[in-house]
Amino acid sequence: MDSSQFREAATSAIDEIVNYYDNIQDRRVVSNVEPGYLKKLLPNAPPEEGEPWEDIQKDIETKIMPGLTHWQSPNFMAFFPASSSYPGMLGELYSAAFTAPAFNWICSPAVTELETIVLDWLATLLGLPDCYLSAGHGGGVIQGSASEAIVTTMVAARDKYLRETTSHLSGIELEDIIAHKRSKMVALGSDQAHSSTQKAAQISGVRYRSIPALKSDGFAMTGARLEEVLNQIKAQGLEPFYLTTTLGTTATCAVDDFASIAETLSRHAPPDVPGEIWVHVDAAYAGAALVCPEYQYLTSSFKHFHSFDMNMHKWLLTNFDASCLYVKKRKDLIDALSIMPTYLRNEFSDSGLVIDYRDWQIPLGRRFRSLKIWFVLRTYGVKGLQEHIRKHVKLGEGFAQLLRSRPDLFRIHTKPSFALTVFDLVPTSGVQAERTALTRDAYDLINSRGEIYITSSMVAGTYVMRVVSANPKAEEKYLKKAFDILVATTEEVRLNRPA
Ligand code: PLP
Repeated sequence: MDSSQFREAATSAIDEIVNYYDNIQDRRVVSNVEPGYLKKLLPNAPPEEGEPWEDIQKDIETKIMPGLTHWQSPNFMAFFPASSSYPGMLGELYSAAFTAPAFNWICSPAVTELETIVLDWLATLLGLPDCYLSAGHGGGVIQGSASEAIVTTMVAARDKYLRETTSHLSGIELEDIIAHKRSKMVALGSDQAHSSTQKAAQISGVRYRSIPALKSDGFAMTGARLEEVLNQIKAQGLEPFYLTTTLGTTATCAVDDFASIAETLSRHAPPDVPGEIWVHVDAAYAGAALVCPEYQYLTSSFKHFHSFDMNMHKWLLTNFDASCLYVKKRKDLIDALSIMPTYLRNEFSDSGLVIDYRDWQIPLGRRFRSLKIWFVLRTYGVKGLQEHIRKHVKLGEGFAQLLRSRPDLFRIHTKPSFALTVFDLVPTSGVQAERTALTRDAYDLINSRGEIYITSSMVAGTYVMRVVSANPKAEEKYLKKAFDILVATTEEVRLNRPA
């Protein structure tokens, strides 16, 4: 493909993409193809001769679209959103054009420097304490996902803990002592924390224990529950070294009680003392709301913690992937992740005057992801992003209000939080098993019909549905439509259930 063919193909592709976005609400939101559908539609091998773009492009509609679930549709209310925007897409386009695995500053200074600048902008916008800014000992780095941020910080925390708690030892047995200590190390998260903490523990070769987050505490982890678990595991001779706290849990968007957690830790494992527990704040989805000052009181304890991560690609209009990880001490990441083979050496890295982000992450190569964040921040501005969040929160409250208008059909499980509403159905009998069966039947029917797409979850033994009103194209009329579908399906399922 030469330049003029590219210009023509790209123009046609952009026309098709704009058309897709303009009419996305008319498509069936969730794909209903059978597993293996694509193998039946594609040849067994690539073509011998190259094909013209127009033939390739035709296959998007006929072969790929049927197998897509349309996450950008306003009828998509499942999981958490993966928000996209035109400025975000332009960032991806330029990033593809400048393709370079820019692992060291010298590989493309603009890639590193823009990342540092936009992540500092974002930290200030989110109201993070100054200790997370690059001007001090901290700084931000873009990772692929919130899970990657957790495993990266857990590796740093593990190595820091081992280094600090064995620094007084020496001799040939040191390796054995470290191996023994490692076998006793425990990573912690609440039972509402995302499974990525348990997975990170599995990858890091440490144990995992969960802390109950009780319904009576609104599913938030508290210092008191943390203290109980710390006492138990210490009595067993185990060594806690990492804790994930959550701002916006996956099931109900609960927010852990950061102040009481910080207070408990100040007694059990005081910060800045060898053997401290590394505290990570997982704000993957709801962290986006911190762009609004009314939520920033939530960050007041973060100065006592070690790292914070939020996904711009969930609720802040930035195309996947852009997970923004901040650490209070960048040295902790670098100590764990820096390797300097001769072929990576250069005068700038040696000078210590530049950031080499390869030392802040697991892979070596990295994409130019800060471009799309820069484009989004500049296109929407602070006010535009705040309006975006507030609109979705308001839509969520409106949706909860609709559910409340039919107490005969719906029960709100946890109060709407960060544009997430969690509820179940009311059975005609008062039997709990009937409630679960009814909710499950209605949920299955709604998703099989594909007019809207929602998710379910199990929260403290209750089977619930989740509706998220944070899709970039969310509007009141789509949430009203979802409500009408819920009412009709609940009534249908009630009628069809055996008496
Ligand atoms: N943390 C929370 C609270 C989440 O809700 C999710 C996913 O929805 C994750 C972490 C994992 O996110 P990622 O897909 O970026 O790894």
